[in-house]
Amino acid sequence: MSILNLSALNLSKKIKNKELSSTEITKAFLAQTHKTNAELNSFLIITEKEALATAAKVDAKVAAGQTLEGLEGVPIAIKDNICIQDLPCTCSSRILEGFKPPYNATVIEKIKALNMPIIGKTNMDEFAMGSSTETSAFGITRNPWNTNCVPGGSSGGSAVAVSSLQAPLSLGSDTGGSIRQPASFCGVVGLKPTYGRVSRYGLIAFASSLDQIGPFSQTVEDSAHLLNVICGHDKKDSTSQNIAAEDFTANLQNPINGLKVGIPEELYNTLSGDIKEEYEKVIKKLSGEGVIFETIKLPSLDYALATYYIIAPAEASSNLSRYDGVRFGHRNKEAKSLIEMMTKSRSEGFGAEVKRRILIGSYVLSSGYYDAYYKKAQQVRTLIKEDFNKAFSTYDVIFSPTTPTPAFKIGEKSSNPLEMYLSDIMTIPVNMAGLPGISIPSSIYNGLPLGIQLVSNVLTESKLLNIANIFEKVINFNVNKNAFINT
Ligand code: GLN
Repeated sequence: MSILNLSALNLSKKIKNKELSSTEITKAFLAQTHKTNAELNSFLIITEKEALATAAKVDAKVAAGQTLEGLEGVPIAIKDNICIQDLPCTCSSRILEGFKPPYNATVIEKIKALNMPIIGKTNMDEFAMGSSTETSAFGITRNPWNTNCVPGGSSGGSAVAVSSLQAPLSLGSDTGGSIRQPASFCGVVGLKPTYGRVSRYGLIAFASSLDQIGPFSQTVEDSAHLLNVICGHDKKDSTSQNIAAEDFTANLQNPINGLKVGIPEELYNTLSGDIKEEYEKVIKKLSGEGVIFETIKLPSLDYALATYYIIAPAEASSNLSRYDGVRFGHRNKEAKSLIEMMTKSRSEGFGAEVKRRILIGSYVLSSGYYDAYYKKAQQVRTLIKEDFNKAFSTYDVIFSPTTPTPAFKIGEKSSNPLEMYLSDIMTIPVNMAGLPGISIPSSIYNGLPLGIQLVSNVLTESKLLNIANIFEKVINFNVNKNAFINT
């Protein structure tokens, strides 16, 4: 087995027992990145020098007989909306071209403290608005399973990095599905933690009441290890939860006999016949292991997408008002007045999807419409939370496909925003309720991966990861199938 095929956990074990050095490992992933990035465009920048310097530090520690912690020395890729001090951070937008944050996001502080070599910054939909990574100002990213297909989005680059073995781990952000949907499209594991579990400090804001950073990995176990690294209370994020630390790997092997799983019919019934059949096979397999599946009703989920497209743009329009040509990135230099400079800088700097969100957001927040749209949406959001809450009094976990279809063709939905938005119908309700959700690969349909989404109650990631880990073993999905693996 080559270095690239090893899980992050196995890599860290091999570094610790001196079978492999962090430098050898980092070089192997960098080589795969260099070899495949021209075709996939998953990385915006590759930080080879920095990655190798971190790896050398780890190897020096090993040579000096010092003990290594957790995933120390295991490389990782970072979505380009997470700030790393003195490195470009663009959010795949022209408006941030040239911007180098003067500070690290809290998750980066943690990754740096653990000496995890950072391979580079990954491509994404502009400001994380999109479901296909096609709205990036720096070119589309391709799906390694079929390069005519999108990788999903907005964290498409981070999903592709893990799927094509450019990195054993990566970080993405999830506001309405941006970790789980691309994970599903690319056949990897993607975890959105409970809102507030991971600090958002240094994550460039899209919709602050929904945004959450989380891991991508080949295995559930690896995501549990990475969550251990990045989670925790942070004074710099007022919505970060102040709760006792726990080890998310501790319960991974707990038996799940008699587990009760609810399948919301509002989501399940949107599937087409043959895709439903694929999921029926998965459900049958898991039922054979003593898992009890029941169809349930969560009526408010029918309104989740519409609600999200009021709340998320409202927050985005406010968050993005800071990009005015004065403080960050792109500025129009010909303008004769301040207002003209701001108008031109924003017109030139933002892409069409971002402008659409700013327009929608400004509209729903404007006086006269605020009560009809924004306030109403907040009320529906409460109903969504209540529906989930009720379900968790009977069911351990909620099960659905992660997406209604496998990865779609590049260009297929880019001219129809509503079609594009519908690809997040399964994932968006989870953000609205602030719950943890995970996508794990479940089968291959027409040569493309499909994923299942598992959702549990707030702050029960330990249980969620346990269930996902057992499901992963039962499903036994072979990840080593796309053409970029073994290249
Ligand atoms: N696709 C959704 C949107 O465009 C969600 C994006 C995300 O989770 N960042 O808003």
